[in-house]
Amino acid sequence: MRTAKAAVYEAPNTPFVLKEFPLRPAKRGEALVRVTMSTICRSDIHSYEGRRPNPCPGILGHEIIGIIEEIGEGIDKDLRGDPLKIGDRVTWSEYFFDGQCYYREVLDMPQKCHGVRKYGHDLAEEDPHFLGGFAEYCYILPGTGILKLPPELSDEEATPLNCGVATMVSVTEAAEIQMGDAVVIQGLGLLGLYGAAMAKARGARYVIGLDSVAARLAVAKNFGADHVIDVGTMPAQSVIDEVRKLCRPDGADAVIEVCGVPEVIPQGLQMLRTGGRYVLAGLVNPNADVTIDANMLVKRWITLRGIHNYHPRHLIQALDFVRSSRERFPFGEIVDSKFALKDLDAAFKKASERSVLRAAIVPHLTE
Ligand SMILES: [Zn+2]
Repeated sequence: MRTAKAAVYEAPNTPFVLKEFPLRPAKRGEALVRVTMSTICRSDIHSYEGRRPNPCPGILGHEIIGIIEEIGEGIDKDLRGDPLKIGDRVTWSEYFFDGQCYYREVLDMPQKCHGVRKYGHDLAEEDPHFLGGFAEYCYILPGTGILKLPPELSDEEATPLNCGVATMVSVTEAAEIQMGDAVVIQGLGLLGLYGAAMAKARGARYVIGLDSVAARLAVAKNFGADHVIDVGTMPAQSVIDEVRKLCRPDGADAVIEVCGVPEVIPQGLQMLRTGGRYVLAGLVNPNADVTIDANMLVKRWITLRGIHNYHPRHLIQALDFVRSSRERFPFGEIVDSKFALKDLDAAFKKASERSVLRAAIVPHLTE
């Protein structure tokens, strides 16, 4: 029987272990994909560091692209209705759910179906073994939305589509960004950079990016940020005052939190104008406790929303957004380092200390 390699996550904060598992033929409704690139998402780091539960031993990684090597019966079209065949380069939804669910059928929130599963969140010992990005192969299981990638998109542009980019389509949609809006983005990692670019594409007149990492502040200007503020060198009140001064006449129309730090919420609220919208998307770990003056929400008509994951339509929009604005924004540069599968530990270290923007694993790099 054929086998392939995976970098197995055995326990939090211990080195990854390269292991071989059997590759079986794709069953009905499945596809077998040869992984060409997977990137390390912040949530992979949270899992690795034990800050959120993830089955061990498992294969992490959910921002994945690859080339279809086998297609089972019953799948012949992608989300857009384009025919799928062996040899196609594809992305796919980071979650899958095969069945009926009130959230999908009635509420149109398939990402929140009870029992929804996610790539990078399964036991490596169980069939079909390969359900994460940090491996040579990945099975796409029934209930996944698959999307064919156009040839002009590089692997670096295409790999973050199915987590970070699609999530930001969902987040910027929820922020209801209108033509002429002033938008503040708290956190300029991959999500924040795409958020800035999408805010501009949705018509924002002014985008302010906040972070404390110098390299991120510098690069944000290339992704649509008109102004950046180093929040590490200024008292919180001064940051609020500066934002309010820049967003005339009375503060930002929308604030987006993608930094994962609950303490920024009271600050973000004070940056908003009356009637402003605040979308939280970075606080993906439990116990993100914070104290806010809820009277401000009432008196100032603030809309506060949380967003997690995305609808399949957002994956299509993410692809179309990157395809249509890749000349305007250097998306490929966000994936700024590449590692072989055997060097996953080094990649995680760099991603964790934020010395790279998005580390990519190229499983077949050494061949
Ligand atoms: Zn992710």
